[in-house]
Amino acid sequence: MRILGIDTSCDDTGGAVVEDGHKVLSNVIASQYEAHDRFGGIVPVIAAREHTAKINFILELALEKARISFSDLDAVAVSHHQGLMLSLVVGVSAAKSIALACGIPLIGIHHLEGHIYSNLMGRSNELRFPFLCLTVAGGHTLLLKVISHGTYELLGHTRDDAAGEVLDKVARHLKLGYPGGAAIERLAEKGNPNAYDFPRPLINRPDGEFSFSGLKTAVIAAIDRDPDLNQADLCASFQQAIIDLLVSKAMHIAKEHQLRQITLAGGVALNTPLRKALQHAAKVHACEIFTPRSDLCMDNGAMVAGAAYFLYQERGADSLNIGTRANAPLGTTGVRYRHESKYK
Ligand code: ZN
Repeated sequence: MRILGIDTSCDDTGGAVVEDGHKVLSNVIASQYEAHDRFGGIVPVIAAREHTAKINFILELALEKARISFSDLDAVAVSHHQGLMLSLVVGVSAAKSIALACGIPLIGIHHLEGHIYSNLMGRSNELRFPFLCLTVAGGHTLLLKVISHGTYELLGHTRDDAAGEVLDKVARHLKLGYPGGAAIERLAEKGNPNAYDFPRPLINRPDGEFSFSGLKTAVIAAIDRDPDLNQADLCASFQQAIIDLLVSKAMHIAKEHQLRQITLAGGVALNTPLRKALQHAAKVHACEIFTPRSDLCMDNGAMVAGAAYFLYQERGADSLNIGTRANAPLGTTGVRYRHESKYK
């Protein structure tokens, strides 16, 4: 089953073709970094304008790279829940047009389901329900128990900023550009993670609740206090604090809920020290860690097509009048969480 996956939930225009939920035939992403960089964050109206300008080209390129045409598609899937409303509308409008013109099923996907299913693509035989998913990105930091296809239980989330958002804000304060996570990781490689004793809020609290705003404030205060600071040491110490928080909470929840398989998802899943720290902790706790292919971590259309393959078999197609929602409950259990973000 060949599915065209579309994601325009935030600032990346993603189009991809995936066969049978596993085989990525193409995965095309157009980023908008340059359009937003000078504003220090994502401007929704600019994001929508950029999606509108690029969507046709991206989808045609996705088909071309997959060496197929519209008539070879079996379904079209799109992120229609969770993200910037105007941006979601661009992808959903394109998906509806294709479904109608080609006479193929339309499958609406919650953007977070795309991230969750990025781990199942190519690994559905290794991962067994239930498993834990730590999703870390610019707009969300949450721990979900994935009970079965489309059924989730929220076991933890951030009460304030998301981890990726804090990385972006500190990077912006250091004038490292956007997105900040990769720039901080590069600088941190040369720094001492013990140079600064930054706070790890809520780390000793026996639950899955995260808080990153106090850490962000402490790091920004350290930057403002010392104009000659060693940026590498600061980035290494800051990154280590985030990793300590994510790893300790994930391990605590995995142990408490007796979940032996832990998946990592979202853009921050690209962070190599985080992956290593999770692998190390997993050995101690006799858990297995699964991380997505690197090209499936950032927002992309392939994860949407991958999720659609599995979820279509569970809940079928959607009607052509599906709507978009910036904040929507996740899955059949209607998991809700507070969604705050970097968006302006
Ligand atoms: Zn995302």
